[in-house]
Amino acid sequence: MTQEDIIDIYKKSGALLEGHFELSSGLHSPSYLQSALVLQHPEYASMLCKELAEVFKDRKIELVIAPALGGIIVAYEVARHLNVRTIFAEREKGQLTLRRGFKIKEGERTLVVEDVITTGISVKETIEVVEKNKGMLVGVGSLIDRSGGKAEIGHPYHSLAVLNVPAYKPTDCPLCKSGKKITKPGSRDLRG
Ligand SMILES: [Zn+2]
Repeated sequence: MTQEDIIDIYKKSGALLEGHFELSSGLHSPSYLQSALVLQHPEYASMLCKELAEVFKDRKIELVIAPALGGIIVAYEVARHLNVRTIFAEREKGQLTLRRGFKIKEGERTLVVEDVITTGISVKETIEVVEKNKGMLVGVGSLIDRSGGKAEIGHPYHSLAVLNVPAYKPTDCPLCKSGKKITKPGSRDLRG
């Protein structure tokens, strides 16, 4: 699949919206990605995650982990294609952590995945969870990198599609200046 194929699936699912959005970072952007609208279709979820799994299939992955909520379906589908275990990290008092009895074995070869990487904060925190539990980080993958490759993950990562989506300070926002009505989707996964 090409990057265009990936973006097409997002467009077809109504998951790539154009307009004027306030991200949870407070920045304004002319576009907004809602992967849940893609992943509600098992056929698309499987297709995209198989593609991501292929990238890491020779890396002897033993565990796939994602930050909740956005990454859970991606982790599950990638793990299904790799035929390995999958868990997720979730927030407790603002901190990403393992709950529900999830464990990472010492030295376990672990892949971190996410649906959309924006700033890379959630992925970075998930990597910290892996390291704190003495897992071995083998790779980082996402369906989409909307930072144009500028997200600071601190490790090499692979995204099926890279978008360079502008984000403006409200005071510099050309959409505000043109008087375009703003939408606040209010989804945490915008922080990526
Ligand atoms: Zn604006």
